[in-house]
Amino acid sequence: EQTLVLDGVDKTFDTGTAALTDVSLTIAPGEFVSVVGPSGCGKSTLLRLASGLEKVTGGGITVDASATSYVFQEPTLLEWRSAQRNVELVPELRGVPAAERRERAAQALALVGLEGFERQHPRALSGGMRMRVSIARALVAEPDLALFDEPFGALDEITRLKMQTELQRLFALKQFAGLFITHSVSEAVYLSTRVLVMSGRPGRIVADVPIPWSYPRP
Ligand code: ADP
Ligand code: ADP
Repeated sequence: EQTLVLDGVDKTFDTGTAALTDVSLTIAPGEFVSVVGPSGCGKSTLLRLASGLEKVTGGGITVDASATSYVFQEPTLLEWRSAQRNVELVPELRGVPAAERRERAAQALALVGLEGFERQHPRALSGGMRMRVSIARALVAEPDLALFDEPFGALDEITRLKMQTELQRLFALKQFAGLFITHSVSEAVYLSTRVLVMSGRPGRIVADVPIPWSYPRP
């Protein structure tokens, strides 16, 4: 029933760097968990293990999600495709028929407030709008697990505040499980149902704090 389970996970890279030690963690459907901690404590490594981009070197990891989405700090959009065609990418790769994927991409763009910008190319959009396209592209895959690696870190503060509100609304609507890396404790507390604090080299979880006053669910 859990979307993500890590049981005593260790990760040591081929270079000999031990990035994580004895990390145990469970994320249930609908839980949105933030991870804070100093640079180098293994936050990105944790996310890459959850995504399957890296393999554990000790312990176990189980992901029960038919779709996982990864949102990077710098939106990785295809510059030669319009916003709409960027969002269509995943359904296209999955062989969803053109009419249906167009419809789904248009809906996802509307959810992130980009109605009317479907035909714009990434270079014509602001940083905040590019991040919205990137989030729409993640949502159109209808993930059970969404992984965010400091997605708002490069944005100005006003845009970041707007994006936080937007993500909170989307999360309440879609009820996916989320794992969200941030350097901002206030962002973590504002967005999450739980905050994990990581520390050390190799990194471990030193606190796991429920946030009981999280926003109401629909
Ligand atoms: P954080 O995201 O908290 O800044 P990272 O997960 O990026 O931390 O890195 C944790 C540790 O693992 C660091 O010492 C980093 O240098 C090392 N590391 C990360 N990725 C690799 C890699 N691909 N190869 C070797 N070492 C890595
Ligand atoms: P946000 O991402 O929170 O909307 P931005 O600073 O990215 O904040 O943009 C503010 C507003 O300015 C946008 O919502 C949009 O209405 C307008 N805007 C920004 N860039 C463009 C653009 N390239 N073309 C048209 N309108 C734009």
